Amino acid sequence: MITDSKGNKWYKGNLHTHTTSSDGAVSPGEAIKLYNGLGYDFVALTDHWHVNEPGEYNGTLILSGVEYDISVDGCYHVVGYGLERDPGLAKGAGPQQMIDAVRSAGGIATLAHPAWSLQRPDKMVQLKGVDCTEIYNSVSGFPFSARPYSGTLIDVATTMGFRAVLTAADDTHYYKEDVGRGIVYVKAAELTREAILEAILNGDVVPTNGPFIEWAVEDGYFVVRCPSGCRSVQFFTNNYYNPDTTTRGDCVREARFRIKSSDRFVRAEATDADGKTAYTQYYYNDPEKT
Ligand SMILES: [Zn+2]
Ligand SMILES: [Zn+2]
Repeated sequence: MITDSKGNKWYKGNLHTHTTSSDGAVSPGEAIKLYNGLGYDFVALTDHWHVNEPGEYNGTLILSGVEYDISVDGCYHVVGYGLERDPGLAKGAGPQQMIDAVRSAGGIATLAHPAWSLQRPDKMVQLKGVDCTEIYNSVSGFPFSARPYSGTLIDVATTMGFRAVLTAADDTHYYKEDVGRGIVYVKAAELTREAILEAILNGDVVPTNGPFIEWAVEDGYFVVRCPSGCRSVQFFTNNYYNPDTTTRGDCVREARFRIKSSDRFVRAEATDADGKTAYTQYYYNDPEKT
């Protein structure tokens, strides 16, 4: 848990975890113990087609979860967590049915690792009720695979009207290099299922590989603050070219981007000296803010 400059609490979590209940290398108990030992405040166990039980272990909140998948007319993996019951979905269900099932059971629906899945933005924008999507997924990267980062793909979908809260997750399978690279910090008043889910849906989430950042829109500027100091902050919008997208230095603690009327969205990434990146959420500069 991190306390920010305003005194808010940000709980550390992993929202996508496999165990021996599907194709993960360790048992649910071992997974929970491992993340607890690493200082995680909450973990969602999200096995393929297996709804795990919620619980608590030594101060770590365990969220129920599941991952549904289908590879017909594209590859879709939908992770759900915080479910109040097993929706009883049968294999063969399409992506919209997966999302609807998770939400009908009181869970949050996440379109997982869109870059790894080679997701098509025109298909993404047709899905209804996608609460979150993963901008970073650990196991989709080195040395297990090669597309951990989905920011560019999600940017394209966002220019087409896609809207989702950004998360990061380990998607832990091997319990080797796939641990501790895809982290979320969630700003919540207390460590309960209800408070964590509400905060995530509200976008009070910092997805990161390590560093913690704060961001805000202040007087027409998108402002990113890096308490621990970063090497660079880069801003992303719907425009191909912006003249001031990069702030860099040995220890950047604040970077500002002036939001132009042509910027329909703005987000940022801050990278530290170890090459680890923290991501902001999207700020939508339009009348229909979400
Ligand atoms: Zn998956
Ligand atoms: Zn997974």
